[in-house]
This record gives sequence, structure tokens and C-alpha cells, in this order.
Amino acid sequence: MRLYILLSFLLLAVFCSSLVDASRVKFGTLCSRNPSNRQRGCDKKYGCGHYGAKRGNRKHMGLDIMCADGDTVVAPFDVKLNGRFMPYSQNNAINDGINLSGQGFCFKLFYVKPDRYFGTLKKGQRIGRMLPMQRVYPGITSHVHVQMCDRSDPTKYF
Ligand SMILES: [Zn+2]
Repeated sequence: MRLYILLSFLLLAVFCSSLVDASRVKFGTLCSRNPSNRQRGCDKKYGCGHYGAKRGNRKHMGLDIMCADGDTVVAPFDVKLNGRFMPYSQNNAINDGINLSGQGFCFKLFYVKPDRYFGTLKKGQRIGRMLPMQRVYPGITSHVHVQMCDRSDPTKYF
């Protein structure tokens, strides 16, 4: 009986330390011209870039990282490309993106035209290019949208 208790504590300790490790992982640069992953603030017309920001009746379920139209988007760490993700049901000039995994994360990048949708990339290698967001939302702070697959808040990883 005591052995079981001891073992479960041991398992709990291992589990907790793995959680701590995951929270220590940080995203590297996403857009070449924004090496420090500067986050989008608020625009007059289009709202704010932080997680949980208002989008009409809905909530913004990701974090916006500033990214100039046409900039090169790169892998923030070693990643696996898991196929296309299209943010909008109605097509527009920025309706492309990619599902990614790496470092124990599963996440999506919106508004990026990937060079390819499958395969693996090393940290810093090119994923693709930022799509022309100004064409769809004139005056917005152009950005990539980072969204975790479980829709949790990615802010602590930046
Ligand atoms: Zn966003």
C-alpha cells in the first residue's frame, strides 16, 4: 500500500515537471522582419491582437504576431507540417494557413502561404510568406495569427 502511494507521488512529480518544461518552451521568430515576435496591439477599426479580445459576439482564440505583408515566415522551432488550414469559409486573399506541431505543441498559423503543406522544417527555415492582409483589412496591423489546436492561450509561450 505504501509503495503504491510512493509510486503515485513519483508519477505526479514526473507529470508536473513535464508541465513546467512545456511552459518554458518559447516560440522563436515567426516573421523575418519581426525577430522579437512583437505582438499586435489594437487597431481603431479591427480590434486587438491579444488572446480573448472581442470579435463581435465571439472571442479571439489566438495571439497576433506582427508580420509585414509579403514577409518571410519561418519555423519558430523544429516543426512538422500537418497540412493546410483555411481560416475563412468564404475565400479571400489571405485565406490560407498551416497546421503545425513541435516541442509538444499543436498549433496553427493563419494568413500564411506555405511553400508546402507537409514535411518537416528546422528552426529558422522558411515556412512561406505572409499574405497581403492590407488588401482585405486596409489599415490593420498586418499579422500572423497563432492558435493552439486546443484553443488555449499561447501568450505564455511568447
Ligand atoms: Zn488573430
